[in-house]
Amino acid sequence: MICENISVKGANLSFADFDVTELAKKYGTPLYLMDENRIRHNCRTYMKAMNDAFGEGSKPLFASKACCLKRIYEIMKEEGMSIDLVSPGEIFTAVKAGFPMENSYSHGNNKTDNDIAYAMDCGVGYFMVDNMCEMKAIDALAREKGLVQKVILRLTPGIDPHTYAAVATGKVDSKFGIAIETNQADEFVKEAVNFKNVEIVGYHCHVGSQVFNEDGTVYIDAATIMLTFAKDMLEKYGVEPKILNMGGGFGVRYTEADPYMDIPANIEKLASHIKSTVAELGMPMPKILMEPGRSIVADAGMTLYSVGTIKEITGYKNYVSIDGGMTDNPRFALYGSKYTVLLANRMNEKADFKCDVVGRCCESGDIIQPDITMPKPVRGDIVAVTTTGAYNYSMASNYNRIPRPAVVMLSDGKDYVAVKRESFEDLVRNDA
Ligand SMILES: *Cc1c(COP(=O)(O)O)cnc(C)c1O
Repeated sequence: MICENISVKGANLSFADFDVTELAKKYGTPLYLMDENRIRHNCRTYMKAMNDAFGEGSKPLFASKACCLKRIYEIMKEEGMSIDLVSPGEIFTAVKAGFPMENSYSHGNNKTDNDIAYAMDCGVGYFMVDNMCEMKAIDALAREKGLVQKVILRLTPGIDPHTYAAVATGKVDSKFGIAIETNQADEFVKEAVNFKNVEIVGYHCHVGSQVFNEDGTVYIDAATIMLTFAKDMLEKYGVEPKILNMGGGFGVRYTEADPYMDIPANIEKLASHIKSTVAELGMPMPKILMEPGRSIVADAGMTLYSVGTIKEITGYKNYVSIDGGMTDNPRFALYGSKYTVLLANRMNEKADFKCDVVGRCCESGDIIQPDITMPKPVRGDIVAVTTTGAYNYSMASNYNRIPRPAVVMLSDGKDYVAVKRESFEDLVRNDA
């Protein structure tokens, strides 16, 4: 199976040791399931690997845009994880969950003055600065509040991560960050060192997402460029690089065709390269941060649907419509993402019916996954989509006034609701 928390018992699919058809009956569909133990396991894998490879003070930050809800921030707090936040809504959710905000890092390519002030008032530890407009605003607001704000500069190292264009972010031509190649990063630091109410504590890059890094070069090349730049800034402007944040992006298995990513081995390889480069350059060793999102929560998630309509267009194609779609998982519509789709209550039958599994919205592009083979379904069968823990609930919408599904957590044989299913009343709550 795609991940070790998935198995088959008799005819039924099992996830985190639960019969998913029972959960579909109990909570209704569509339904998001999250395997709490798997989230914790993934956090611990990163924590241990980074601590072992880089030493104390180096740590993973959970990129919480991947799955933002109160319970997740509680789990991150319990696991000792730090977090990345992108918007005041995410900050608000983390504060509500009681997350220690000094361990949070504020991202985004367009933080408004209100966003910056709110983040400062909530005690966000670090700002990842994306551009000079924002740097000036942070300096001014920190002065008003009598603070010296710690900032990390987001740079584009000019690396092509060999992933989908829509999720590649580390290239020079990107809406994110400041380019090293064009000398703009150098000019930025030169100007920024004069600001009184910000302290540059280090540098950040994020090359992209769903990166498998099979030859190991993507992160290593980025690290070389970043360290060389950091050393240069130390010499030219006396900026001490205390932190180097290598971003997120490790790939996960959506289908059997995806490789398995050995996280500790990749981190170990990166660490040995960073250590030797630091020694060669004769610079102090920075603390290393990484920002996994997907690889913390993706394989902890599964979505369940009920089959509605089965349409066989003679000589063309078969369509199986389910009771969710792009409103709970827009990723195929957005970037053609691959998923594994299973008929959860008939796992012991021959998969010989070829079809597109589609949603219920009024959009032809509302496709969960084309070209699936499964046993020919009947109305009421349960469809499971695996590896949906990242960028599904957090990207969900109410298009066609479809309520968002509930998020049910599974932990050591106990199931509990982390987010309630939206009601129709919820949908009209803000209508005047
Ligand atoms: C999205 C994002 C991440 C997380 O990426 P994953 O592919 O989910 O690991 C990390 N850092 C930044 C800046 C991001 O935008």
